Amino acid sequence: MTEARGVVLREFGQPVTVETAPVPEPGPGAAIARVELAGVCGTDVHLHHGHLAIPLPLILGHEGVGRIARLGEGLTTDFSGNPLRVGDAVVWSSNIPCGRCHWCVIAGERTLCETRKVYGVNQPFDQFPHLSGGWADAIYLQPGSAIFRLPDGITAEHAIALGCAGPTAMHGVIDVAGITAGDTVVVQGSGPVGIASAMYAHLAGASRVIIVGGPAGRLDLAREIGVGDAHIDIFAFPDPAERLRLVLDATPGRRGADVVLECAGVPEAVAEGWEMARRGGTFLALGQYTDRGTTPLNPHVITRKQLRIVGSWGFAEKHYLGHVEALPRLAERFDLTRLITRYPLESANDALADMAAGRVMKPVLDVSRGVEESRSREEETASRRDGQSARTTEA
Ligand SMILES: [Zn+2]
Ligand SMILES: [Zn+2]
Repeated sequence: MTEARGVVLREFGQPVTVETAPVPEPGPGAAIARVELAGVCGTDVHLHHGHLAIPLPLILGHEGVGRIARLGEGLTTDFSGNPLRVGDAVVWSSNIPCGRCHWCVIAGERTLCETRKVYGVNQPFDQFPHLSGGWADAIYLQPGSAIFRLPDGITAEHAIALGCAGPTAMHGVIDVAGITAGDTVVVQGSGPVGIASAMYAHLAGASRVIIVGGPAGRLDLAREIGVGDAHIDIFAFPDPAERLRLVLDATPGRRGADVVLECAGVPEAVAEGWEMARRGGTFLALGQYTDRGTTPLNPHVITRKQLRIVGSWGFAEKHYLGHVEALPRLAERFDLTRLITRYPLESANDALADMAAGRVMKPVLDVSRGVEESRSREEETASRRDGQSARTTEA
């Protein structure tokens, strides 16, 4: 592999284009991974439209799964100590924290690192190593990257199905909100973060998981794969007061939920969500990843209900590892592959549009299929060339 294709964002709001770049040799501690599947996330839609300050041009893609193609000197194990060899199936965390700042060293909260690097978000295409996004044939994994070998029996599809929502939910739902056995849980939102959070609530032993989301197709899919015990469609019930009544009806003694997980990403969801929590309950703001402005809130609710209000931002390496280790249990309990819709690399614009419109749950760029196709195209061209030269020889 000497050259790789990558999907490049050159101008906000304009179509992304497939370009090529040479694949560099990995330096000490680095690795080259051949990408098989790359996830398209709601964040990519925001990046595409310039809602976040990022450098351009940029190969998009902070979610990827593939195989180790080359290992740099000294890199012999994955991030949790398993031996790492060329050909191993791996995933990698999108974050590379600096490891030196106050947040990384003193606070031990690497998710709060102010200068963390993120694949597919702030690693420009026109600077070495160029291939720093997942929407490409290959990615250069810089020294210090959290690379994890996939557990036995876990396919690339399993690993990409939840994308960054998987480790995000591991952090927020398990680590921060701390759901315990028997809890009644409300999940606001039925996109990938909502679905992943509901799955983790089930795994943590919640007695009842109530999903408040939409559109109907997403709720149907959740229901079909056993995610959520009750589903409330916000389009069928557009009045928040009505939704609150339905949620309370579904909780023991109409007391409200022990834990409310906001995974909607809409500012107004916060005021609605904490009304759904019981007295002394917990409210987690997990979905407000993009700054979408302010919203009216009544702080009296916090005091009156003695609410515990927490936030959670992305994930650190331990959450990524926790998610990788939970994948066998997730894959056993839920048909993760049902979440995916595949697109060839060349159709990244369609994948972005479908994600933006909520037409699919999880668009995934099938990078290796493109490689196979281009390989077979190459073979075809080569055989045509051979045929021609044969004819030329005959002539
Ligand atoms: Zn993402
Ligand atoms: Zn740092």
